[in-house]
Amino acid sequence: MTDFPFPETAMVDFDAAPLRLTVDLNALVENWRSIRRISGKARTGAVVKADAYGLGVEDCGEALFSAGARDFFVMTAEEGASLRAVAPDARIFVLAGIWPGLEHLFFEHDLVPVISSWQQLTHWMGVLSEVGPYPCVVQVDTGFNRLGLSVEEALELADDNALPQAFSPVMVMSHLMCGDEATSPENPRQLAAFRKVAEAFEGVEASLAATGGIALGSAYHFDLVRPGIALFGGTGGASLGFTPKVTATAEARILQVRDAKAGEAVSYGASHRLTRDSRIAVACVGYGDGYPRGLSSTGVPERLDGSGPGEAWFEGKFIPVLGRITMDMTMFDVTDLPEGAIRAGDYIELFGENRPLASLATSAGTIEYDMLAGLGLRYQRSYIPFAD
Ligand SMILES: *Cc1c(COP(=O)(O)O)cnc(C)c1O
Repeated sequence: MTDFPFPETAMVDFDAAPLRLTVDLNALVENWRSIRRISGKARTGAVVKADAYGLGVEDCGEALFSAGARDFFVMTAEEGASLRAVAPDARIFVLAGIWPGLEHLFFEHDLVPVISSWQQLTHWMGVLSEVGPYPCVVQVDTGFNRLGLSVEEALELADDNALPQAFSPVMVMSHLMCGDEATSPENPRQLAAFRKVAEAFEGVEASLAATGGIALGSAYHFDLVRPGIALFGGTGGASLGFTPKVTATAEARILQVRDAKAGEAVSYGASHRLTRDSRIAVACVGYGDGYPRGLSSTGVPERLDGSGPGEAWFEGKFIPVLGRITMDMTMFDVTDLPEGAIRAGDYIELFGENRPLASLATSAGTIEYDMLAGLGLRYQRSYIPFAD
């Protein structure tokens, strides 16, 4: 299985692809198991929205399903339908909820809508009056101001004896703003608000914690935890007590190696002036592939504070970006490598085991999530299969 988006006749071997992504499904499963270990009695779900954080919902979903995951979260019903093909009897929760015109996807693929507003609830009641009992999740906003009924609305709903019998929520959920900040006072505040709701919905499962919340301890775990980033090798800044295994390695091909003289400029805006005679490796990756422009060496806001550029890795050495990153290409300074060490056709590691994603994201002024979800369509993917 592959997510390669081009016609089959245009497919190239992984060995010849300009851009390639290796996804280690064993690492993915190991991360899920590590999360399960620290989640105590709570069931361990898996959040695989945005194409499994850019790594491929079908392959990742299938591996997690084989390992025993049975509770998945996606954003849209379309994502849910893709996942259903590889997770036959799992529960699949759709965070964006149900909308007029999309109902058929929910019923055809057995997806559970997450209801997050009074408006959606009203629509849902109308749907139920036609189809009869069907599970749903009620999402409650305990402070995030993103999605969810207010706590008051949720308590009112829990107490409403006039609700149609077909309305049968299987779970109440909420989401933390500061789960990655262990000492934030927002966490106990949201926890207390959510407890009230969870108690009011007696006999209904409750779920609060994503990766950060899991690290906050058992009070936050309730019945089901919803890890995302930790499965895919990140921590989201939380202290999990274990280091997630690297799941994704991204590599780009060098298209050309060229020599340039001190005083010459590199890339758009001519904002990078070479201070020495240099050797430049041009790689086939740019911001069109989610290699953030913020990693440029000069001429972008992220570098105004004088911090260093992004770096890739090649055979034991870090090589810095030179000048502005362009849509499809990035120049790297390879002057410090021995002459001939890097040639056109070689691959450099953009991130992975040797060039950690988290610090690269920090250089770009962003987070691991953004880097993974933005990988784009041009990567040729290769999956190391999950073998128990
Ligand atoms: C994205 C998301 C998660 C997973 O978050 P991570 O920080 O990646 O673990 C869990 N729950 C909800 C509602 C989300 O939107």
